[in-house]
Amino acid sequence: MTGRSRGAPADEPLGSVTRPVVDDSSVVPACHACGSAALTRVRLPLPDGRPAVFASCPGCESRAWYVVGGDGTPLGPDGSPRGGGGVGR
Ligand SMILES: [Zn+2]
Repeated sequence: MTGRSRGAPADEPLGSVTRPVVDDSSVVPACHACGSAALTRVRLPLPDGRPAVFASCPGCESRAWYVVGGDGTPLGPDGSPRGGGGVGR
């Protein structure tokens, strides 16, 4: 009853500086190399301008880019699809 002195909504952030929360785990569900879901995901557009998520795996140190809204194909740093076998060790 005596909880409201001023009409300040406490849990409604105005979101001025924080970026909107995006669910990048739907773009990159798991590491393409080892399958780990504990990836570091960073929004990072490809050189050709496509929005993408850069995923770095702390487990096997593999890195790849995934186009947002794409088919989940792991891409190299230049935006070209990674080859079938030779992703370096
Ligand atoms: Zn991995």
